[in-house]
Formats: sequence, structure tokens, C-alpha cells
Amino acid sequence: MTRLIFLGAPGAGKGTQAKLLAESQGIPHISTGDILRAAVAHQTPLGVKAKQYMDAGELVPDSLVIDLIRERLQEPDAQKGWILDGFPRNEPQAGFLDTLLQEIHQECDRVINLDVPDEVVVQRLVKRGEDSGRSDDNEATIRRRLDVYREQTAPLIAFYQTKNALVTIDGNQSMDAVTAALKAAVA
Ligand code: ADP
Repeated sequence: MTRLIFLGAPGAGKGTQAKLLAESQGIPHISTGDILRAAVAHQTPLGVKAKQYMDAGELVPDSLVIDLIRERLQEPDAQKGWILDGFPRNEPQAGFLDTLLQEIHQECDRVINLDVPDEVVVQRLVKRGEDSGRSDDNEATIRRRLDVYREQTAPLIAFYQTKNALVTIDGNQSMDAVTAALKAAVA
């Protein structure tokens, strides 16, 4: 059973790598960012509430993502394992996840920290913004997302270091090298 949490700055490559690994393991890749972007695109009540925060590079309110994760982890496909990408993103979300996992009798087996220097992350995101047109990949919003990451998400590295098996992987290598390092880490 593979149950993993991916941590890392915006642009660290979490989404790309989490998707590949989830496919190879036949388990769902659960990305709160992807779920929220789909909700925004479909103008669901969740999307309408989330959009302004996402465009500003801020976290959406915890209650919105918490409800979403509570439901998602209880779907049938998530009983075979999962990879969480983009959740938890702050200490309250991490505390909620701990409690939820106890309630539903699941345990996270590893936390992967994809480490990439800030300059590299900014370059990657600016390029992604040009290529994909993602509305939060403009320089001002990117800088805010990085600040939010440093203030709220990076402290989770220490939180999980004392709690779970945290593995840090150098994300500043070729995509294939990162994929190989990840496979070795979860084997
Ligand atoms: P990135 O990590 O590249 O910034 P994501 O797709 O993970 O991209 O997230 C995009 C945006 O979605 C975030 O800036 C935030 O507004 C929102 N978001 C995603 N996950 C969460 C979460 N767990 N809590 C709050 N907001 C979230």
C-alpha cells in the first residue's frame, strides 16, 4: 500500500512527479490545486469561492480544502492508496489530516519533500505561465505563492520529520533523474 504526501514549493515538480508515480502504482493522484482549478473552470460553488484566493496567490480557506479531502480519501479508488499533492499546506491542514487518517484507519507511509532553489522555481513558473496561460503563473502572484510556501508550508517539513519518514529529494535535476530517485525512495 502506497500512501504518500508530496511537499515542495510551487514549481518544484510535485504535480508532474506525483502523477507519474501514481500512474505507475495504479493509485489516485489527489491534487487539491487540480481539483480547485476544475471547480473554477466549471464555476461550481467551490470554484466561485476559491478563484479570488488562487488568483492572488493566497491559500484558499482551510474549510474548503478540508471538506474536499475528507470526501476524496473515502472514495473507493483511494482505498488502494493515494498520493496527496498540495495538501496539507499549513499546520491546521496537517493537524486535520492526522485526525482524519486515524478516523478512517489509514496511515501515511512517507512524506516526500521535493527540494528546488527559489530562483529555479521562479524561472520554471514564469515559463509555465507563458506556455499554459495559467492565471496564477505571473511574476507577482508567483512571488506571493513562494512567500506563502515559506511562511506556511515549509514548516511542515520539520513537523513531518519528527513524525513520519520524511525523504528529501533534489528536484533540481532532470525529470528522469527525479523520477528514478523517487522510485528508489518509495521502493
Ligand atoms: P502550486 O503548488 O504550483 O502553487 P497548486 O496547483 O498546488 O500549485 O495550487 C494552486 C493554488 O491552489 C494555490 O496557490 C492555492 O490558492 C490553492 N490551493 C491548492 N491547494 C491548497 C490547499 N491545500 N490549501 C489552500 N489552498 C490551496
